Amino acid sequence: MITKVWFLLKLLTFQGLFTSPPPDPGFDFFYLALQWPGAYCDTKRACCYPTTGKPAADFGIHGLWPNYNNGSYPSNCDPSNEFDPSEISDLVSTLQTKWPTLSCPSNEGYKFWEHEWEKHGTCSESVMDQHGYFEKTLALRDRINLLQILTDAGIKPNDEFYKLKDIKKAIEKATGFTPVINCNRDPEKNRQLHEILLCVDKSGTEFMDCPMPTDRCPYSHIQFAKF
Ligand code: 5GP
Repeated sequence: MITKVWFLLKLLTFQGLFTSPPPDPGFDFFYLALQWPGAYCDTKRACCYPTTGKPAADFGIHGLWPNYNNGSYPSNCDPSNEFDPSEISDLVSTLQTKWPTLSCPSNEGYKFWEHEWEKHGTCSESVMDQHGYFEKTLALRDRINLLQILTDAGIKPNDEFYKLKDIKKAIEKATGFTPVINCNRDPEKNRQLHEILLCVDKSGTEFMDCPMPTDRCPYSHIQFAKF
């Protein structure tokens, strides 16, 4: 009898029924923020291509940002956990392609990655270390080809204006999740597609519906800038 109970307990534990849930990381979800380079470059007084050359005309990563359900977010959580380039040496060439910097003066990208790790990444250090932060962000970006999704829906980076709701609908149809859209203005004051944010669960693995699906883009039509 005792052996039987012991066996049953072992089986339940094995099936994960008795295992405790992962510890609370102290935030609720991530935003995966992807930026359109054309909208960064026609707005910033200074846009500089990285030392590796002009990035592809594609959405680049801005960052993976821990957030709270109420819309606020933690930042700069652990100054002692400084950015260490040696930890991501195997990822650098991929980061240069998919997480390119456009800030001036022209640089390799380390400053941008350092800023993102120290401001946002350190707030998720209970879930992923520095290498994991960059690796997971790259993997998430690879799972959704936003430019392809928009192009397939006839929405192209050609300086034309598109309905905001069509942009959102195309992404929702292809991914199952509604994105958050951020806009900015070009020098002619045209409202344009600047960033697309997708929500990711707090383990940094699965896309999810955004708890606060509020765009920072209250316009019906926005421009999709050339790059
Ligand atoms: P955030 O604080 O919004 O996460 O990141 C923005 C910071 O990263 C700014 O200080 C900006 O100068 C720097 N940065 C460097 N390269 C880029 C880039 O390509 N895009 C954006 N949005 N910020 C960049």
